[in-house]
Amino acid sequence: MPSSRSPFPWVEILDRLSSFYGTGDWRTPYLREHAENPFQVLIGTILSQRTRDENTDRASALLFARFPDARSLAAAPLPEVEPLIRATGFYRVKARAIVACAATLLDRFGGVPPPSFETLTSLPGVGPKTANCVLVFGYGIPAIPVDTHVHRIANRLGVVRTRRPDETERALREVLPDRFWIPLNPLLVQHGQNVCRPIGPRCGACPIAALCATGRALRAGRPPPRPEDAPPGSGATPRARRASVRRSPRGPPRRPRTSSPRRANRRGTRRPPRRRAGPS
Ligand code: SF4
Repeated sequence: MPSSRSPFPWVEILDRLSSFYGTGDWRTPYLREHAENPFQVLIGTILSQRTRDENTDRASALLFARFPDARSLAAAPLPEVEPLIRATGFYRVKARAIVACAATLLDRFGGVPPPSFETLTSLPGVGPKTANCVLVFGYGIPAIPVDTHVHRIANRLGVVRTRRPDETERALREVLPDRFWIPLNPLLVQHGQNVCRPIGPRCGACPIAALCATGRALRAGRPPPRPEDAPPGSGATPRARRASVRRSPRGPPRRPRTSSPRRANRRGTRRPPRRRAGPS
């Protein structure tokens, strides 16, 4: 259960991010404006693995125009599915995964994704992030989908110190009151794509720099915080701190770097390939 005692400035962080990105009041009941088809959220999230949002959107539009529900997708021949989702990469693997998922969904649940984390993660190809996306975006049920953006920014903010997204989800569930769970992912993903980038975070232009452990340290000319430097009032209980305080292999940025197309690869999520030394 999430802690309700956390004094970490989540309200201010979400207020500033929603104002900065013009997304409207994050307190607005999510389903009022964003309800989506749970089946299509499920399949779309599987397609979104290791690709850019534009590719997922393009492939999803093609796929769902032809196979809009579990019944039609479960019966779809792979050679017809593969070209529709080619833009997402790994399309042969993904085609097998989504057809198998649709078939299981049809057999066990009449084609409708169950609104339960445990049951969703029992489906083939469905991990914690996908299950949480279905809960949040398909049903408006509070959950914390942790992708690379949420994982990275939560660590840079200093509210968790974790090495992997699944650790981050567990740690956030300990310290983040559940009223913040639904708006967290959309706002942090947007922030991660635009300002708090994996490489070259634009801390100087960041609307939450004063609330961020990394931003404050950099502004004061100090090195980024160590794991034990979680900010006062992070709300992390000693148990949660012990569980979550681990050094990220990449760690927070040592200093803000100007974003450069030469630094970021096309996905903007990995380090650029190292140049090999040529023959001398
Ligand atoms: S101050 Fe820098 S590290 Fe912190 S959230 Fe903003 S961009 Fe990210």
